[in-house]
Amino acid sequence: MFDVLIIGAGVSGVSCALILGSAKNKPFASDKKIGIIAHQKASSLQTAVFNNAYGIPAGKLGSEILSESLEHLSQTYPHVEQIFGEKVMEIKENNDFYTIVTNKNQYQSKVVVVAIGAGNPISLEGLDAYIEPHQKIPAVKNRIQLKNDDHLVKKGLYVTGILAGHRSQLSIAAGSGAAVGTDILTLWNDGNHTMVHDAINK
Ligand SMILES: Cc1cc2nc3c(=O)[nH]c(=O)nc-3n(C[C@H](O)[C@H](O)[C@H](O)COP(=O)(O)OP(=O)(O)OC[C@H]3O[C@@H](n4cnc5c(N)ncnc54)[C@H](O)[C@@H]3O)c2cc1C
Repeated sequence: MFDVLIIGAGVSGVSCALILGSAKNKPFASDKKIGIIAHQKASSLQTAVFNNAYGIPAGKLGSEILSESLEHLSQTYPHVEQIFGEKVMEIKENNDFYTIVTNKNQYQSKVVVVAIGAGNPISLEGLDAYIEPHQKIPAVKNRIQLKNDDHLVKKGLYVTGILAGHRSQLSIAAGSGAAVGTDILTLWNDGNHTMVHDAINK
């Protein structure tokens, strides 16, 4: 049983994983089992090049970010389990946990973060009840979002990135994933608002 399983290792998914991983020394997070399913074929990053994203050098290829971000995650927070080569096919809701069905396995998690981009049709089953037309991307592009209240779709189910209804910019997607990471840490910390900061000389 995962405490949190992130589906999608693009911009918002890895951003969320980094924040969750960074809380490893906090008492409320140290025993938590965190995972991310990294199936990269459908990522917007495959063909993108970035000149306007904060902190990223101009000309950076999205395809480089895809691999480098997961390397960053594994080197800095190796306790975050990365699951490769599996595409999620379905999310099933149970009473107090979710079952995530991939093309190879099944996983159970108390909390699920859906970070799969806004492709239409959606690439997995089980979320149809929450789908609506994207509110901030031109209708002609035919994108979707999941109904949510500040990223929360329903108890234990979060959505990040473009699929949360944000405009498609890397910095916005990254911020969205980070926001959900801190929401989950706050949940684990009995509702006390939580951030994780590192500083020199500490
Ligand atoms: C060609 C192009 C150029 C762009 N240029 C810019 C730019 O110059 N500046 C800028 O700010 N933004 C740019 N963007 C937008 C930016 O890349 C996106 O806003 C950002 O990647 C969205 O993040 P996300 O997390 O929502 O989705 P993504 O980064 O697309 O991540 C989604 C992840 O989910 C995975 N996934 C999907 N379905 C499944 C499934 N069923 N199971 C498991 N995993 C799954 C995908 O493979 C991917 O890894 C560009 C996008 C494109 C396509």
